[in-house]
This record gives sequence, structure tokens and C-alpha cells, in this order.
Amino acid sequence: MKNLDWSNIGFEYMQTEQRYVSNYKDGSWDEGGLTTDANVVINECAGILQYCQECFEGLKAYRTEDGSIVTFRPDLNAERMMDSAARLEMPQFPKERFLAAVDAVVKANADWVPPYGSGATFYLRPYMFASGPVIGVKPAAEYQFRIFGTPVGPYFKGGVKPLTLCVSDFDRAAPHGTGHIKAGLNYAMSLHAHSVAHAAGYDENMFLDPATRTYVEETGGANFLFITKDNEVVTPKSDSILPSITRRSLVYVAEHYLGLKVTQRPVALAELADFAECGLCGTAAVISPVGKVVDHGKEICFASGMTEMGPITKKLYDTLTGIQMGRIEAPEGWIRKIM
Ligand SMILES: *Cc1c(COP(=O)(O)O)cnc(C)c1O
Repeated sequence: MKNLDWSNIGFEYMQTEQRYVSNYKDGSWDEGGLTTDANVVINECAGILQYCQECFEGLKAYRTEDGSIVTFRPDLNAERMMDSAARLEMPQFPKERFLAAVDAVVKANADWVPPYGSGATFYLRPYMFASGPVIGVKPAAEYQFRIFGTPVGPYFKGGVKPLTLCVSDFDRAAPHGTGHIKAGLNYAMSLHAHSVAHAAGYDENMFLDPATRTYVEETGGANFLFITKDNEVVTPKSDSILPSITRRSLVYVAEHYLGLKVTQRPVALAELADFAECGLCGTAAVISPVGKVVDHGKEICFASGMTEMGPITKKLYDTLTGIQMGRIEAPEGWIRKIM
């Protein structure tokens, strides 16, 4: 294992030895393989540079209690990336190849996978972009699929701190647009909203449905999960929310491990004050608790407060991370052992 201060590394790109590359040309993907070259050289007129044809994924590899290196539900990342590619008129990278490429990158960089218990993990970033030139607006003819990995530090360094969000005046995704796919373009347009929120002292934005601005959608990169005063789990339903694998897994854990009732339905901004707990779910933090949402000066404070995770959020967090780390038995097919 590399000699790093694992508990104190941040969430920043660190170049590792090997990454995976496959090129799509003349209607098919080449054999693909690992390379030590971290740089991408493409034509000045490449579709990614001109019309932003790109999609990506994010998942983690980590060491479990028994010392194995595993990934968590990578099949869902493979499937979601195929959905993203189809929506952007890009070729799909086959699921079995995606899984084999993830395994290859993790194995080749096993020294970079942080030790069990450090809180750090090996973050994997699969992505695909149009490498072929286009000047007239149309899908490119050539693409590149890549996966690199980088170790990232524990998300809650120095303990959990509930977040303060603001209701954004910007929209993240249009109705019938691309909010449900994992594409860089959704992030490019959320950066300004994020900077504005940060400058005003907020951690994240709460984006509303752009059509009516009355329902809760998500933040720039995480789905919402709410807990009612009688311990029911509620997640917002909308076609423009990105289908988070963490959120879907937490819903399963709530129902099958904790015996909680789960409802997926539109959640009105007006009912936020009725919830006892609120959390953000995504691969990076699993769940980050939200303590407060500010809607144009009006503060909505959750009962769980500003110092700790709410009790149900904590149970969900502990159970899912327990499953991921091999301390709690996982549902069939959730853990992929790499070595
Ligand atoms: C990636 C992402 C999430 C979280 O999804 P996970 O699969 O749980 O990591 C949520 N919202 C958006 C917009 C995302 O891009």
C-alpha cells in the first residue's frame, strides 16, 4: 500500500498509475486496455469541445473488514451510463465490459486503495466523450471511454456537520430535459448557482421543479431523503431527478433492514417544515444530514438540529455503510469482490 496519511487526504484528484481506455470508431469499440498515460489528446473540433457530448459515472472501491477489495453495485453504474449515452446519442459501452474495466483499474492500482477503517476510499470515474470532429451540429462518429481512479479522504473529516441549504433561484434541469442522466452539461450549468450559494454562506442549493417552482428536486449532485415525524422515509419523485444508486439502496435498506415505510412522491417546498430529518444521498458521503433550508430569508429548521445526524438518518447511514464494509450481510449481488 502507498504510504499516504489516509485519514487526512481530501477529495482531490491524485494521479495513479493505470487507467483504462477504449476507443469507438467505424461503429464499434476497440479491444481497450490499461495505459499509464494520464493525458487525453483530441482534435480541436472534437464533439466534446464543441457541443459537450459527454457523460460520466462515479463509484468507489474499498477494503472491507476481511481485507478484500470490493465495489458496490457497479452494475447499476454500467446501466445508468448506458442510459446517459443513449440520451446523448452516444454509443453504449457494454455492461460486462464496463465491469471488467472497473475491475482492471482497481487491480492495477490496488496499492492506492485505502485501508479498512481509514474512512478513505478509492474513487472511480468512468466517463465517455465525443472524440471525433463535428462542426455541423450532429453526434460525432468517434468516442473515447475511460476510467481512472483516485484515492479520496473521509467525507466527514472531524465529524458530521449538518448542512445549510438555500432554495435556489436557478434551475438545475428542464422538464423533459437531461436532469435524469449523468452528464457534465448538467454540472456546467449548476456551477454558477453553486458559487452564488457559497458566496452567500450556504453549503448547497435546493433546486425546485422548474415548471412550477413548488416541488423539491435535488441539489447539484445529491438526491434528497426526508424522514417524517412518524419515521416514514419520503423521497421526491420527478422525471428530472438523477436516479441516485445510493438513494435507491437506502430505500431498500429502510424497507428490508429497518422495516420502515418508504414513499416516493412529489414533495412540496411548502411541506418541508413538517419533516423531522433531511439528508442528501450520493456516493461521496452516502448521506449528509441537512440541518436547515433557507427559502428567501425564511428558515426551515429540522428537529435533528445543527450538530448531529437525525436518529433515522443515522440508522440508514450505519446500515448501508455496514453493508458496504462487510460488517452486515449484503443483499444478493450488491458487493462485487475484485480481490
Ligand atoms: C451522481 C449524482 C447523484 C448521486 O448518485 P449516486 O449514484 O448515489 O452517487 C445525485 N444527483 C446527481 C445530479 C448526480 O449527478
